[in-house]
Amino acid sequence: MTDSNFWDYLKEGFLSLIYPISCQNCGRPIKESHGYSICGDCLKLIKLIPMPYCYQCGKPFSPEVDFEKGALCADCRHKERHFYFTRSVAYYQGVLRECIHLLKYQKQVKLVQPLGKLMINYLSANDLIKIKEIGLITPVPLFEDDCLKRGFNQSGLLAKYIADYFSIKYTENLLIKYKKNLSQVGLSKVERKNNVKNVYAINPDFQLNGISSILLLDDIFTTGATIEAICLELKKTGISKLYVLTLARGV
Ligand SMILES: [Zn+2]
Ligand SMILES: [Zn+2]
Repeated sequence: MTDSNFWDYLKEGFLSLIYPISCQNCGRPIKESHGYSICGDCLKLIKLIPMPYCYQCGKPFSPEVDFEKGALCADCRHKERHFYFTRSVAYYQGVLRECIHLLKYQKQVKLVQPLGKLMINYLSANDLIKIKEIGLITPVPLFEDDCLKRGFNQSGLLAKYIADYFSIKYTENLLIKYKKNLSQVGLSKVERKNNVKNVYAINPDFQLNGISSILLLDDIFTTGATIEAICLELKKTGISKLYVLTLARGV
């Protein structure tokens, strides 16, 4: 434990004696919060996405049907995907939805630790995304004004946490979101696709220096329109392996 961690630990212990923190999901007091406002029992309720799912985009399949390994969903069968694989760790529901809201809108950045750990565990156990071969981890960017307003890019914090853990190069400067668009929430599939068209670009000043394998990271996968738009741009750089990992998946 470093000195500053030690003082944080003491301060937190002291404060929790005077003002016990209660879990924002179940309401029970948290004994040792580590600065999180969600208790350990509730974090364990986050529902991970089990197999079977689409080999390429990770869309969950019905567990009742016996799918062959490598089976593709209808979308992946019928259109070209610009990514190598997309995987998502857990369903965007319940406790995880609450955690993402607390992180994004209440700036509870300490939640990056337990959420980042879920992603690290996933990557460590997944043999398709060869983590040791990845040359760069980068997040889906926010529009600059939005990022300044919030003070951080939540996907960037998660990506940095993971990159540090695996000692992989990390950057927030490879991609630029140069236009503000509507939120994807509530838009139809076609509207979502149009909404992200000509919104993302590669930063011409960023040097890839021969990096050929990238892990793109985002907080939530819904229809994949944003991911597709970015991967289309990334492919133009000549990157040969483009993996995508999101913390949560909407469908
Ligand atoms: Zn709880
Ligand atoms: Zn698919």
